[in-house]
Amino acid sequence: MDAVLRERELDALLVTDLVNVRWLTGFTGSNAAVVTGPGVRRFVTDFRYVTQAAEQVGEAFEREIHQDLLEQVAEPLGGPLRLGFDDAGLSVRDHGRLGELAEGVELVAAGGLVEDLRAIKDAGELERIRAAAVLADVALGEVLARGLVGRTEREVALDIEVTMRRLGASGPSFPPIVAAGAHAALPHAEPRDVAVPTDTLVVVDWGAQLDGYASDCTRTFATGPLEDGARGVYELVLRAQQAALDAVRPGPTGKEVDRVARDLIEAAGHKEHFGHGLGHGVGLEVHEGPRLSVRGETQLEAGMVVTVEPGVYVPGQVGVRIEDLVAVTRDGCAALSGMDKALQVVD
Ligand code: ZN
Ligand code: ZN
Repeated sequence: MDAVLRERELDALLVTDLVNVRWLTGFTGSNAAVVTGPGVRRFVTDFRYVTQAAEQVGEAFEREIHQDLLEQVAEPLGGPLRLGFDDAGLSVRDHGRLGELAEGVELVAAGGLVEDLRAIKDAGELERIRAAAVLADVALGEVLARGLVGRTEREVALDIEVTMRRLGASGPSFPPIVAAGAHAALPHAEPRDVAVPTDTLVVVDWGAQLDGYASDCTRTFATGPLEDGARGVYELVLRAQQAALDAVRPGPTGKEVDRVARDLIEAAGHKEHFGHGLGHGVGLEVHEGPRLSVRGETQLEAGMVVTVEPGVYVPGQVGVRIEDLVAVTRDGCAALSGMDKALQVVD
């Protein structure tokens, strides 16, 4: 962190995003700010969190309690000092106040700096993400054993959520998606009060939040024999997903890996039917850096955790998405989610 600040010629960084605060300090409360830099490690929260901060925030940080975080942050600051701040998160009003409170301090836009560091996971983080992914797999296995056909999409989605909580998750990492038949052609389909029919495809996209960390996975199941078109789309998406997984390793950019899957899907005549990015980073948040998409300029590095989730969505007809959560290793990638990908029939 300090090395990154020196590179940017910053004396310190003000961190106000709560996920970033959590990553830096371990604090999980809802109100806090951090000032960090070479020689400064300050953590500020309000009186409600005195005990929690003492338990969660390590000795490396000087803990301060104040009702007005910005006032407390600014109080000891004096120019000349270059202070980075999160220009994607700090409100214009707070930016103005900080400028007034901290006289002579130069505020430098430095959004995304902590997020970039967060993209590379350490061994403890990888273990927690893997645990979330394993829990999610076990939960879905239980739900599938209770069957899909005849239950509404909403019932199945709720079952997934409750089962994950019962197994120890603090919650789902996002509202589960359960979408059958033509409804699955919407990449972000909302579960409906409609029963899952036989002989169709059902997209299930789900993840658990465990010990702070998220998981994210998608499988598409059949509820009986399929017509050739739907089966062909499934095989295509599976092939594209496997090719992209084979391309995940340190070196290529997110854009390059996205291209591997996209080329296969385009060659099969489904160019317009794969409208979202190939994947995204997962960590404390279910959607974080790096992105694997046509705009993904970040090079993959060992320790990153990303999803690989191509899909084909033919409006009014069929939707298939297959998503795995993988950790980038020194020479490839390792799957964190383990459920079988050969087309499974669940009734
Ligand atoms: Zn997903
Ligand atoms: Zn995803």
